[in-house]
Amino acid sequence: MTASSARPWLDVTLPIHRRAELLVAAMSIDECAAQLDQLRIDEITEDDVREGVGSAILATSATAGNDAQPASSAPQLDALQRVAVERSRLGIPLVFARDVIHGHHTIFPIPLGQAASWDAELVEASCRAAAVEASADGIRWTFAPMLDVCRDPRWGRVAESYGESAHLTGALGVAAVHGFQTADLAAPDAIAACAKHFAGYSAAEGGRDHNTAEISRPTLEDVYLPPFHAATLAGCASVMAAFNTVDGLPAGSNRALLTGVLRERWGFDGLVVTDWNAVAETRDHGTAADTADAAAQCLLAGSDVDMVSRLFRAELPGLVARGRVAERAVREAAARVLRFKLRLGLFERPFTGERPCVQRAPHRALARRCVARGAVLLANAHETLPLAAEHNRLALVGPLADAKAELFGTWVLDGIVSEVASLAQALERAGRAVTTGATSWADDAKPAQFDGASATSAADGADAIIVVVGERPDRSGEANSVVDPSLPAGQPELLEHVLELARARAQRPPRLVLVVIAGRPLVLPACADAFGAVLWSFHPGSEGGLGLADVLLGAAEPGGRLPITIPRHGGQIPIFHDHTPTGRPLGEYHRQPGAHGGRRYLDCAGAPKWRFGEGHGYTAFALREARVLSAHAEAGVRLSCTVANAGVRAGETVVQVYVADPVAELSQPVRRLVAFMRVSLDAGASRELQIGVEARALAYCHRDGARRVDAGQYVAWIGFHSSDGAPIEFEMVDARVRV
Ligand code: BGC
Repeated sequence: MTASSARPWLDVTLPIHRRAELLVAAMSIDECAAQLDQLRIDEITEDDVREGVGSAILATSATAGNDAQPASSAPQLDALQRVAVERSRLGIPLVFARDVIHGHHTIFPIPLGQAASWDAELVEASCRAAAVEASADGIRWTFAPMLDVCRDPRWGRVAESYGESAHLTGALGVAAVHGFQTADLAAPDAIAACAKHFAGYSAAEGGRDHNTAEISRPTLEDVYLPPFHAATLAGCASVMAAFNTVDGLPAGSNRALLTGVLRERWGFDGLVVTDWNAVAETRDHGTAADTADAAAQCLLAGSDVDMVSRLFRAELPGLVARGRVAERAVREAAARVLRFKLRLGLFERPFTGERPCVQRAPHRALARRCVARGAVLLANAHETLPLAAEHNRLALVGPLADAKAELFGTWVLDGIVSEVASLAQALERAGRAVTTGATSWADDAKPAQFDGASATSAADGADAIIVVVGERPDRSGEANSVVDPSLPAGQPELLEHVLELARARAQRPPRLVLVVIAGRPLVLPACADAFGAVLWSFHPGSEGGLGLADVLLGAAEPGGRLPITIPRHGGQIPIFHDHTPTGRPLGEYHRQPGAHGGRRYLDCAGAPKWRFGEGHGYTAFALREARVLSAHAEAGVRLSCTVANAGVRAGETVVQVYVADPVAELSQPVRRLVAFMRVSLDAGASRELQIGVEARALAYCHRDGARRVDAGQYVAWIGFHSSDGAPIEFEMVDARVRV
């Protein structure tokens, strides 16, 4: 499009905010309000588009109350775009949105699985691949990354999270934003990111989705908000307001949150979209009297776009006429929508059109690497793994042993299963003799219904038995919470059965490998300890079979470290590394029963089954000379250590830095993750590392509600997991810098 005096906003030499200003000035209040509505693609009509509706959402399977839309939609979307651009009064392009959560056609591990890689570059690359595939289908806005810090594995959406640490979530969230958006959002293969759900959604009581979240002010400030702050600083183009209330007000109508924190304190100038139907739901919360009240409250609080409630367009012009909402507020929100579209280059390039065919092979290779890098080896007695060539006959047993689509996890397009290899097929392709058994799902209602006979015959004469258990993808994700995060019924019995078979072969016992594929941390039965190796993979996506086979056979290392604690009993929840120290001495984490009075359970050990940050590779690393080089409240902390690969093969590890503030104005965590670094070393090699901790990572919410860094004594630990390392005391100089 070229600028003319009739449409001066098309002049690309003008700055974006000026172009938006010129366009808004030419719009009626009805046209402004229409830009604020986002409609479902299966409901939007040509009339809606001619009248200037701003955006449309294509549903993916997990979207609440909606049927999934097919994947390839560019021609359909271009046709609708033609109506917007050529047949609406002002020719404002639409923007098409979709939940592109962990890949589009190529499915990467679920976000929790990507978080297990502790690899920001890989997360960025996976989001880049997803953006390339999605933009070729006409999608220019994704509702990702989800930055809800998650400490309750019963909550189904833990699958979409980056785990329990605010620092890890923020670091990977920033990487995701860069991957989706690139440095130039107007590039045809860039898509706008959306940091969600702002804020506190994951604190849903009892882990029940869409439930009340009760969060203290310091916890909100120090745990739930920082990843969002990091994403906005990284230029994230949009933020989604959550379903839940914060301090009694729904997030979408919460002015203190959306305007006070997001816009005024953090200076965010992007777009705020509500969650699905959330404007209408302010009435369910009991804080709005009717639909007009709901629309007025949400807009005035700082929500710009109404996702599918259809209330902004319907109610705002009347509210302006009645003087309840200032016309300026509606125009400002419309200007934000227009700036968003201008940043995306939609006025210059509204159509997807003929794009060179996206090459998916490199994306699949990348996804396969992500699988291995996010696979967490939690036990490996006597080097059970990797399986050497002499372990040729492999029995693959269990409901996920030969699964394909079930590897994908929540939020995927329907109908993209072609060419996927199950784990059994991948091992066969690698030249091993594979037998399978008990591959159907036990019926949850009849716990012992696994097929014991087929497991027995598969295991007959095998050099190794690989039991692959876990969850179907529809057991995690939105609205899929569980009361009991134990390995689902029938599967513990299968484990017992396999152990029985192995015991019967005392002369030449097979290697026993347990592979868990799930959307959340699961509590394993005690008999899992009898397996030589335990390999954990959060739903690994379309390359899951190939990537896990690489790990089992040693072609790739298991690169993962736990991004979330795995409890030993569901009753321990919540259990996470950075809790406050009530009843514990400094730095001590998950005290064992017996050592201290009241906080233990009578019937369960105090420690989790596996701690945050845990995971092994195929070689052994050692860490020495850990020290703090400098600590300055503005510049942050610099630490150093030497890491050595003491094993016989090259490998990678993740060096983790934790800090505690032992005497503070408000009680602080026993320790919390503040930095990490992946290190790759040849056998026998060592390297001195320098690791920086940003001052912001040490700030906390004080009694006056402000976050700042204190001067004084701190303690740091450098190690390979969250209770590793010797304490290093250090002093922070240059007090009370506000961050
Ligand atoms: C979810 C959001 C999602 C939206 C659109 C909602 O139900 O909470 O995470 O982006 O639907 O699909």
